[in-house]
Amino acid sequence: MDWRTKLLKPAPLARQDYQSLATPVFRGSTVVFDSQSVVTDDWRQAENGYSYGLYGTPTALELAARIAQIENAFQTLIVPGGQAAIALIYFAYCQAGSHALVPHSAYGPNKAMAEGLLRGLNIEVEAYDPLIGAGVADLFRENTTLIWCESPGSVTMEIQDVPAIVDAAHAHGVAVALDNTYSAGVMFDAFAHGVDVSMQALTKYVGGHSDLLLGSVSAGNEGAFEKLGPVYQQLGLAVSPDDCSLALRGLQTLAVRLDVLERTGLEVAGWLADHPAVEDVYHPALPSCPGHSVWKRDFTGSASVFSFTFKDQVAPQQVVDFVNALAVFKIGLSWGGVHSLAVIYPDLERPGRDFGGRIVRLNVGLEPPQDLIADLSQAMNGL
Ligand SMILES: *Cc1c(COP(=O)(O)O)cnc(C)c1O
Repeated sequence: MDWRTKLLKPAPLARQDYQSLATPVFRGSTVVFDSQSVVTDDWRQAENGYSYGLYGTPTALELAARIAQIENAFQTLIVPGGQAAIALIYFAYCQAGSHALVPHSAYGPNKAMAEGLLRGLNIEVEAYDPLIGAGVADLFRENTTLIWCESPGSVTMEIQDVPAIVDAAHAHGVAVALDNTYSAGVMFDAFAHGVDVSMQALTKYVGGHSDLLLGSVSAGNEGAFEKLGPVYQQLGLAVSPDDCSLALRGLQTLAVRLDVLERTGLEVAGWLADHPAVEDVYHPALPSCPGHSVWKRDFTGSASVFSFTFKDQVAPQQVVDFVNALAVFKIGLSWGGVHSLAVIYPDLERPGRDFGGRIVRLNVGLEPPQDLIADLSQAMNGL
């Protein structure tokens, strides 16, 4: 054999019985088949064997299987980000002429997709009050196919009565999707509470270090998985094995990170709640958070992200000055990593409420709480 052919021979020469504690990073688009008769192009690789890297290499399928195991899902698909997970669910459950429901408190880009891409495809997505509970039954129509829950909501942190919404939805034959990013898929048991499809931005707690973007879509049953799979294939939602490897590493420390983040979050939120310039603290574990009693009933813990509002006498410019004066807290979007972050939502839109530039969202990281409180305290100096 010519040396040039030897260069291209894919069969391994080194021993393959290396038993690492880390999942190998498998790269590859093409899958090599043993014979023509077994060539397939099937997204169900976990059942039917590998067919094409687009549907995941073993690194991605390992991550999918682990997320499914942790969430008690039927099966999980890994996608390029949380927003891609949201898109996959919409396209699996809605078609031209469908009506869907999404809470006012949903992640902004979810609502943007509803008002942009989906409206253009004649899919009507109606926003609803996240605290409506069983009252949501009045909003279902003949053509309603999907209702989203996101609990707690983004920025305003409303905890939803998901079991009541599930009961109402299923009585009308409507599927329930949950954005379970806040709970990292573990502090709220989506499938025990009847949800059909649960997604999370693995970008947040599973990644855990602000260095990757990934999402997961978990099906509670085979029917949901069969609805999602063909759309996953058609949209071509390929993920990088390197990112999956980082997410698998993140899973190993998820429990200890969540423990510390919960304790730090509670300490910082409690300090803010006692500050004279602060109006409300929207932290699920505090009674001032809308839906707190539902959180107590349905969740096993709280996470790192929460918001607070300043009293009316604090001018919007003073809120900007406060955030700019923070030193330990960095100014940034996203959350779930090891760094503390702060950001103002100047134009947050919620029906019947104007926050007037006085709502700040915090993500606590792994810095000791006394340093975070000292930082908030110096930045509030004079307020
Ligand atoms: C961040 C986030 C997403 C989107 O995740 P990306 O990976 O950034 O696309 C979706 N839902 C919620 C609640 C989020 O906070």
